[in-house]
This record gives sequence, structure tokens and C-alpha cells, in this order.
Amino acid sequence: DMYMDRQNSLGRDYSQAADRERHALALAKVDSEKLTAGPLIGGKLKAGTNPQDVTNPFDRTQVLGHVSEATTADIDAAADAAARAQIVWDRKGGAGRAPVLRAMADALEADMDRLVALLSREAGKTLNDGVAEVREAADFCRYYAMLAERDFGGREDLKGPVGEINQLVLHGRGVFACISPWNFPLAIFTGQVAAALAAGNAVLAKPAEQTPLIAAEAVRLYHKAGLNPDLLALVPGRGETVGAALVSHQGIDGVAFTGGTDTASMINRSIAARPGQIIPFIAETGGLNGMFVDTTALKEQVIDDVILSAFGSAGQRCSALRILYAPKDSADALIAGLRGALAAQVVADPTDPATDIGPVIDAESRANLEAHVERLNKEAKIVARAELPAGAEKGDLFAPTIAEIPTPDFLEKEVFGPILHVYRYDPADLKSVAGKLAARGYGLTLGVHSRIEAFAEEVIRLVPAGNVYINRSITGAVVGVQPFGGEGLSGTGPKAGGPNSLIRFAAEKAISNNI
Ligand code: GLU
Repeated sequence: DMYMDRQNSLGRDYSQAADRERHALALAKVDSEKLTAGPLIGGKLKAGTNPQDVTNPFDRTQVLGHVSEATTADIDAAADAAARAQIVWDRKGGAGRAPVLRAMADALEADMDRLVALLSREAGKTLNDGVAEVREAADFCRYYAMLAERDFGGREDLKGPVGEINQLVLHGRGVFACISPWNFPLAIFTGQVAAALAAGNAVLAKPAEQTPLIAAEAVRLYHKAGLNPDLLALVPGRGETVGAALVSHQGIDGVAFTGGTDTASMINRSIAARPGQIIPFIAETGGLNGMFVDTTALKEQVIDDVILSAFGSAGQRCSALRILYAPKDSADALIAGLRGALAAQVVADPTDPATDIGPVIDAESRANLEAHVERLNKEAKIVARAELPAGAEKGDLFAPTIAEIPTPDFLEKEVFGPILHVYRYDPADLKSVAGKLAARGYGLTLGVHSRIEAFAEEVIRLVPAGNVYINRSITGAVVGVQPFGGEGLSGTGPKAGGPNSLIRFAAEKAISNNI
């Protein structure tokens, strides 16, 4: 069976001296390189405009490299070249495109140590998060290669009247704009591009402003893997300038976006305003993710899973746990356990193998989180804050926080970082408490910890979510295993890394032939 035969990518083990040594070498290399990102068009680095330093979020005095922004002329040139190359690429069919994607997966794995080092330096990822991200990027490439072969293999015969041949065939739409976030600067960047390419499109990719260097590396690897450079251009820059120019560009035939819900709304409006064009919009956005625990749950397991879900990746996953619903009879014990477990988390330099939680992405994010902590201080009750190491102020480390909130509708929006909110609830009120969460309109991840199946089923009925996790952590969806993506304010679908991922990147043609 095609789903069972496939293999997910393998990792590293930093408890082993050999893997630690490779990491140290890779880090030294990245630190000495001073990388450059800018508009990459036809495989050539253009001068661009508005040059900026790219710095390390753990230590802002460290300049990692430089980036310049794409100009409108760059975008025009990239869109023209992409449109021409796309025609040939689309005709290759899935079997013609899959080998390039598989070569990209191999190239990512071959470069794993360097990519992990760069993910740590540019995006503040811990080493284990970095490895998981390189593996996920490779998984996306291999999975979408498989879907390309499955869905773009020629015409599918359909039933019809005698004497008539009826067939269905998929083809690429043209040129996609792929706009990706800083929290998975390699996996989501590579995955969006892989999906668009697999379906027969060319791509103009805009990485997040905070993480252009890793994106430039991914583009170079795609080209090295054999992709015609005209099929994938990098157009770095700010959302207000380059992002806005891209989504309103007449040469774009579809937009794939992962990022905040508010930005998705803005893009949606801009797409709606395109004169004389309607194009598809694939959005993967935020969540207000809850986990419901009942008194039958195993306390130690809950604590492990909550710490990982809320504080792993510094809480900077759209899947991360934001509100823990603790039953009133075991809430004190759970909170005490969480406090102890949080105190044991190491918040430090993400390039150190011992670190659990690295910095948040930038000063603006840190300031927003601190402002939220101020609100929690006034209107809620802070029950734990982790310690920051000496010298933390040279970068954007933020002290992970647990707070007990007084009402189930305390949070209106996603708070993107390592802050866990706990709400103490009476299981007799489950319906109304869960209903308040559902009323916020998100629907990304949902956790349940219980030994009672009927409890889990009821929570699933009450709270919308694209990804439900029972008796485990709620982050870290694996390609092909947990197809990822939400509903409502959390996204349009189709899910990433699932059997239907390519469908909206493609157009369908039905051909009836009355021979
Ligand atoms: N797929 C990731 C996970 O399951 C989250 C992706 C995101 O944060 O955008 O944790």
C-alpha cells in the first residue's frame, strides 16, 4: 500500500558525542559564512532594495548575514520566467516531477547539520526542533512526490454511457505565490513550495522577514536538486510591500499562505479585489488550542504532554496549547506538578544541546508577550514563571509563564509564545465551558486527557478542531500520519501532509468524448 511503504526521514541523537561534534562543526561554519539572501530569480541573486542585517534572536549583537528586499521589477521578472517554465513543467506529469522532489528530500538530509545550525541561529530553534524541521521538510517533498504520481499520472476513466469516453485529469494552475511564516522557516517554506510544484505549478516564494537566510538555502537546494531555477524564485521582503505586491500581481494564479489569521483576512480582501480574476487562496492560520482533562487522566502523563505542547518550540507553534482545562478536583495537584516541571525546563541558548526553550522570534514578539503578562498580573493569577539565565537581555529570551485565568472566555485571540493559561472547571459545566472556546471561531488543535471514551467524544463534538490528540501532546504533526490544518478562523484547508493536500493547487478537467 502506497501510504504504508513510505518512510519518514531519520534524525540525530545529541546525547551521542559524534552527533554533538558534527553540530559544533556545522555551527562554526554557519557563523563564519555570513550568508546573503535577496531576490533569487532564475537562480541569480539580484541586488534588490532596502538591505538589512539578519541577526541571532538569542544574541542580537551577532550578525548572521544580510538580506535585501525584492523590487516590483524583480517580481515582474520572476513571474514572467515562472509562467514560461510552468508550461513545460506541467506537461511532465507527476512521474516527471516526482524525482526532483525526491532529490530535494535527499539534499535536505545530506545538509542536515548545517540546516539545523542555521535554524538555531536564525530562528532560535533548539537542536531537536531543528532536526524535526529538516525531517519534516524532507517528508513533505517525498509525500508530495508520491501524491504527484498518484494524482497527476494521466487521465482517470470515469463511468458513463456506452459509446462515450469520460475522463478526469488534473493540471497545474500556473504560478503560485507561497507566503510562509518564521516559526517553521524551513519545513513550511519547503512544504508549500513542494505542494505547488508537485501539482504542476511554478512558485514565487516570500519567506517571513525574520527568516530569509534559511529560505534562500532551501531555494538553492531545490535548484541544486535539479529544479529549473525559473520554476522557483525567492522574493524576500516585508508583508506590507512584497507580500502585498505579490498577492495583487496579475501573473499570480493562486496564493498559499501560512501565518496569522489577521494577515490571512487581509490577503483574502486583496485577492477579492483583483480586477478580472478569481484565484484560489489556501490559508493555514492561528489557533486558540485547548486541552480538556478529566479526573481519570494520568497526572504525570498530563504534565509531560502539557509542558511539551505549551512550551516546546517556545510555544511558537500554531498547534501549541494555550488553555488547559483542569477539573476542579485535580486542578491543584496538576498546577503544582506543572510548576515543578516548568522549573526544570532550561531556557537558554538554543544551540546548546541541553536547552529546552530558546528565544522568541523578535523584540516585538517579546514585548507583546510581556504586555500580555502584565494583563495576567492584573486580571488573572500568575502561578509560575521560569528563570532566565544571566545575560538574557542581549537577545529575545522570554520567561515561560503559567497563569490561572478567572473565566473561560478570558482569552479572545491567540497569544503566540510560551504562556500557558489554566482554567479550573467543573466537569458538570463542560458544555458551557467548551462552548465558550468554540465561540471564538478557531479550530486548529484540541487535546483530551481521559480514560473515558465518552468524555473524549463529547469534547470532540463540542470544540471544532482540525487535529485532535487524545492522551498525548498536541503538537508535532507528522507528514502522512497526522495531516495538519484547521477549520474556521484556523484555515481553509486542504491540510498539509495529507492525501488531499494537492487538490486546490490544481485545476480539474473533465473530458467527454462521444467517439
Ligand atoms: N505542524 C506543526 C505542528 O503540528 C505546526 C505548524 C505551525 O505552527 O504552523 O506542531
